[in-house]
Amino acid sequence: MLRPPSPASLSVVGVSKRYGHTQALDAVSLELPAGACLALVGESGSGKTTLLRMFNRMVEPDSGRVLLDGAELRGMDPVALRRSVGYVPQEGGLLPHWRVLKNAALVPWLQGEAEPEIAAAKALALVGLEPERFGERWPRELSGGQQQRVAIARALAARPRILLLDEAFGALDAITRGELHETFLALREEVPVTTVLVTHDLAEAATLAQWIAVMHHGRVEQHGAPREVFAAPATDYVARLVARSGVLR
Ligand code: ADP
Ligand code: MG
Repeated sequence: MLRPPSPASLSVVGVSKRYGHTQALDAVSLELPAGACLALVGESGSGKTTLLRMFNRMVEPDSGRVLLDGAELRGMDPVALRRSVGYVPQEGGLLPHWRVLKNAALVPWLQGEAEPEIAAAKALALVGLEPERFGERWPRELSGGQQQRVAIARALAARPRILLLDEAFGALDAITRGELHETFLALREEVPVTTVLVTHDLAEAATLAQWIAVMHHGRVEQHGAPREVFAAPATDYVARLVARSGVLR
């Protein structure tokens, strides 16, 4: 159910981006195998969102290449690309005047699918919201955590090959966040979509992702499995993040 046609691999090669005097990304290179989950970790302003948005061409690099299954994104039609990329923006981005099921059905509906609400109902179930119980509610009638679940369901309903999440768990209390982490891990078992998530929390990154890229001032300071990052921080900055994360290893 809701399996992507096939998950895609992603890579960025020497990507840079500047806004005026701000070097948002400075020669970033990363690779992510198909079906894997990568966390971009770093403090505010380190370039996480800029990099994330390159994967659906909401941001274009000044130089360097972004590749999906080895093909450059630059050559792809942005509309067709966004069809295969599910994006959960930092604010969730639900439409307040659309009921939950219709919100979740947005992308399949835009894509002209015959029965968008069936895909939407499946996606709501996948994120732990019974469609019968929640589908006809308004977004404002949901808790913050439930709204984030709907935002994730909306991204999944179109069966994307890539899923992008920008601080999707950031604004939630610890218990709600923990519950959403469990749901996320369970749904990744069910739907092996290639995933890039952004967080400023190294402990959260280690819980959710197989790969971590620590970003600082637009550069990747370390890219590796969580246990490598914790056991052998590559730079002083990563060592400080590890020390502050509260994770004992
Ligand atoms: P993060 O998501 O890690 O907080 P961003 O990628 O949003 O970081 O931003 C990286 C840097 O680029 C910051 O200094 C930010 O102010 C700047 N920046 C991001 N987007 C824009 C933009 N559209 N115009 C100007 N500066 C931007
Ligand atoms: Mg950001």
